[in-house]
Amino acid sequence: MPTDGFDEWRTESPEATRRVAATWACGLGPGSVVRLHGDLGAGKTTWVQGMAEGLGAVDTVTSPTFALLHEYDCGAFRLYHWDLYRLEPETDWSALDLAEQLPGEGVTVVEWPERYPGPWPEGVRDVWLEPGGQAEERIIRAR
Ligand code: ADP
Ligand code: MG
Repeated sequence: MPTDGFDEWRTESPEATRRVAATWACGLGPGSVVRLHGDLGAGKTTWVQGMAEGLGAVDTVTSPTFALLHEYDCGAFRLYHWDLYRLEPETDWSALDLAEQLPGEGVTVVEWPERYPGPWPEGVRDVWLEPGGQAEERIIRAR
């Protein structure tokens, strides 16, 4: 979690997290890259669902269970959703087109960005999610 220079929200349901993400995503456009930080179950994928809503995604282009990359068609551009959770440290990055796709012509959002050594484009955005005190509470920071 960052200590200064960020926006912060507390949400009390997955729906609330999606609403915050949908509004936040309106500030993004083609070429935007977003890294999502947080443990399993923190709400990263829930946040992406909200982003997709906010960006006007009309449908999921691909979502096979074990895919690293999901694509949503947002009309004028696509939302590229990478989930790097299953990648091993010794992953052959040259075999993945993530590097060539950054920043890319659409909006890119990456779960488990720590698994990718970079480089990340200048201006990359970050979102942190962590549990709050109550069961469905989440503290979310973004910059
Ligand atoms: P991650 O991608 O970080 O592993 P997910 O978004 O897949 O996390 O899962 C988060 C889980 O927590 C979902 O089951 C969701 O319904 C639940 N949840 C409960 N409260 C919240 C909240 N305030 N924000 C986001 N998710 C929440
Ligand atoms: Mg996830």
